[in-house]
Amino acid sequence: MKILITGAAGFIGMHTAQRLIADGHQVVGIDNLNDYYDVQLKRDRLARLAELPGFTFVQVDVADRDALMALFDAHAVTRVVHLAAQAGVRYSITNPHAYGEANLVGFLNMLEACRQHRIEHLVYASSSSVYGGNRKMPFSEGDSVDHPVSLYAATKKANELMAHAYSHLYAIPTTGLRFFTVYGPWGRPDMAYFSFTKAIVEGRPIQVFNNGDMLRDFTYIDDIVDGVVATLYRPATADAAFDPLLPHPGRAQKPFRVFNIGNQDPVALGDFIAAIEAAVGKSAIKEMLPMQPGDVQATYADVSALAEWTGVQPKTSIRTGIDRFVAWYKAYYRVT
Ligand code: NAD
Repeated sequence: MKILITGAAGFIGMHTAQRLIADGHQVVGIDNLNDYYDVQLKRDRLARLAELPGFTFVQVDVADRDALMALFDAHAVTRVVHLAAQAGVRYSITNPHAYGEANLVGFLNMLEACRQHRIEHLVYASSSSVYGGNRKMPFSEGDSVDHPVSLYAATKKANELMAHAYSHLYAIPTTGLRFFTVYGPWGRPDMAYFSFTKAIVEGRPIQVFNNGDMLRDFTYIDDIVDGVVATLYRPATADAAFDPLLPHPGRAQKPFRVFNIGNQDPVALGDFIAAIEAAVGKSAIKEMLPMQPGDVQATYADVSALAEWTGVQPKTSIRTGIDRFVAWYKAYYRVT
């Protein structure tokens, strides 16, 4: 297959591209290489991908409709993994417009491009943040996601709604994947596990929000990629049972689906920090702070629906995953 990955210079994009190429596919990767975090890290990820046969990179902003259409015209891709987005809950409080462009306009452009080019399957990144302050544990896809508590979460929920409309209007098969706090080598410097590691290595204090009283379903990158790839490979056949509220029950429908991808094993923030301290070999200096606007107290994925559809289950423990991340961090930043 020839597959388009958007956000290919990003954390999950790089790992997904590597896996798809290892599986024998051709990958066209696009990214706008924005400076939300260290651009050199994005360039280094791309440099790794550039060494692989079957990888092509084009710098494109998904919010640029003409450029995106030209890209689809030039490369006969049949399936799409759409990961390009403005990520980050806290950044969305201070920079709301970045989210409108990348996550709403960009997502609409992607849907239109998929419609015009008869794409066989669009797999896109949603987020555990759509569950907002959901208290019913674990979070399952049938729970209400009508209460986003950050603009970032609202744009991800909007993506699911837009995909639903396009899937039904134009028979485009779409699958949204709600990622639960992804971590691992080549990860994102704006995320807590990364900044905690950096601060502990450098002997600086770490900021622990809500006095550490938080539960996160941290999910290792390889387990996320397993789910993304298995989803993409599924034949996107119609499934009459998938939405009983369809207005045209007699008509053949392409599937609209949404799945969690998580670890189904939430960890207290304090235990997570202890795993980083053990891997780094140094203790953290902790600065306790209140809960931040937009944050949620707990996330906990029910992963049974994705397991049933693809056979994929999370495999990596926090201890193993953090050890691998810290080993990568030390090698990449030459920590002695
Ligand atoms: P990332 O920031 O590393 O990757 C996103 C990439 O998209 C970046 O390289 C960025 O330059 C690119 N990009 C952003 N806006 C763009 C635009 N307008 N046009 C083209 N490229 C653009 O983030 P990630 O962690 O790899 O996340 C990938 C996807 O998964 C995102 O949609 C994110 O919202 C979602 N997600 C991630 C997590 C997580 O824990 N990492 C959790 C839930 C959802």
